[in-house]
Amino acid sequence: MIKAIYPGSFDPITYGHLDIIQRGLGVFDHVVVAVAHNIDKQGLFTLEERKALIREATKDLEGVTVDSFEGLLVDYVERVGGSVIIRGLRATSDFEYEFHMASINRHLNENFDTFFMMTAKDYFFVSSRTIKEVAMLGGSVKGLVPGNVEKALKAKFEALTD
Ligand code: ADP
Repeated sequence: MIKAIYPGSFDPITYGHLDIIQRGLGVFDHVVVAVAHNIDKQGLFTLEERKALIREATKDLEGVTVDSFEGLLVDYVERVGGSVIIRGLRATSDFEYEFHMASINRHLNENFDTFFMMTAKDYFFVSSRTIKEVAMLGGSVKGLVPGNVEKALKAKFEALTD
């Protein structure tokens, strides 16, 4: 059984991420969506909120689990018995960062490879960051994030402006 680990911030999950998860399931038996706990990076959603949003958005997909991790990714992959790391690639701007991350991870533990999947044509412009900006300014993010995320963004920004 090939277990793939899909790590990221997922603050929040978008259809771009979901597309990678679904296509990842076509290649690997199991995909673990692993939310990185980064103490230096304060997100809009808490770790628990992010996990709950991913769980809800992936509830109909078989072979997906949602988890979180702290510390080195390669240590986490080893601990949970993962075989491969999945990352998504949007424009050339993602490439340099991803290339460095994959190289350092391979240096740290050469048992794991990083598997890259190109973004879907409908989501190449979708990032959690732009989604948050659009939602904060009252724009529509329909069709770019799952319905539960759309609602959560609305609730979050309403609460923040209260
Ligand atoms: P990070 O903060 O680690 O970049 P993200 O949650 O933003 O984490 O993204 C996790 C992974 O998903 C990254 O490899 C990122 O390039 C990829 N990704 C994000 N948005 C998209 C998208 N629209 N299409 C394809 N891949 C994406």
